[in-house]
Amino acid sequence: RSKEKGGNAYHYYKPDMNKRSMQRLNLEIHLRKALKRGEFDVYYQPLVDLSNGAVFGMESLVRWRHPEWGLVSPAEFIPLAEETGLIVPIGNWVLKQSCLQNKAWLQMGYSPLIVSVNISAIQFHQQNFVQIVTEALEESGLAPDQLCLEITENIAMNNLPYITETMQRLRALGVRISIDDFGTGYSSLSYLKRFRVHTLKIDQSFIRDITSDEDNAAIVTALIAMSHRLKIKSLAEGVETKEQLDFLITQGCDEIQGYVFSKPMPAPDFELLIKENKHLYVN
Ligand code: C2E
Ligand code: MG
Ligand code: MG
Ligand code: MG
Repeated sequence: RSKEKGGNAYHYYKPDMNKRSMQRLNLEIHLRKALKRGEFDVYYQPLVDLSNGAVFGMESLVRWRHPEWGLVSPAEFIPLAEETGLIVPIGNWVLKQSCLQNKAWLQMGYSPLIVSVNISAIQFHQQNFVQIVTEALEESGLAPDQLCLEITENIAMNNLPYITETMQRLRALGVRISIDDFGTGYSSLSYLKRFRVHTLKIDQSFIRDITSDEDNAAIVTALIAMSHRLKIKSLAEGVETKEQLDFLITQGCDEIQGYVFSKPMPAPDFELLIKENKHLYVN
């Protein structure tokens, strides 16, 4: 992998460049142009409240529609966007777009929804991050409690004073915070006391074989119980089957997200869903 980054470092041909680094370079060049060319889109995946089966919000998931390559999955370009710093403008765009869309649906008369936006560590560490969030709220007119920021444990467990300060300022602003992919990061849980987060999103790797793997079933049961004791909502990610759903309901999980209800979809399709006021059948 080439060590040179940014500037014109990539603009000359290196004969010893292997195929993989050529592909990376190609991807980076296209990624740099994608924002200007309007190739990004936000998909929305419903978040379901298990107490009544209603859709209470949605997660924003960025999609890149390249004119020749078609839809590129975030798993393929987010890591490179993070390495190159491009995640900052891309992430800011997703944040603003998500706030504008959520406000638009409110103004169209749909009941208030919470939009949940993934925030990369690189974005969170920006000095003006709280300012960026404030601007997204002001420019869209969205109420702060209709925005949730999804951060990872690796950000939250960091004990640096400015992280604590940023978390406090975000709380003061009134936005919600959830911990994404919970259980896959560092195991220190002391931050759960330090920052009062709203939701723990239990990673889908634990949910996948919840009905066949007793260890994962035990972990999920314990995480749900722990979140209840701490008065934090538990949300299970990647719920695909009725069996998984039944298990989660039995354990008292608060919320779910997954193909069992719906895949992420473009804004017009999500709007049809809330128009029908679709509920998940919960017995
Ligand atoms: P994530 O934040 O954990 O998002 C959930 C991922 O699980 C999404 O993948 C979603 O499509 C997928 N998923 C949801 N339900 C199911 C299910 O029932 N089964 C399976 N197999 N998968 C399910 P997606 O959209 O490909 O995004 C992957 C990751 O890329 C996200 O994981 C997030 O870490 C990152 N990402 C996506 N959009 C953004 C963004 O705007 N900014 C940043 N920083 N990261 C993003
Ligand atoms: Mg997420
Ligand atoms: Mg996740
Ligand atoms: Mg994630």
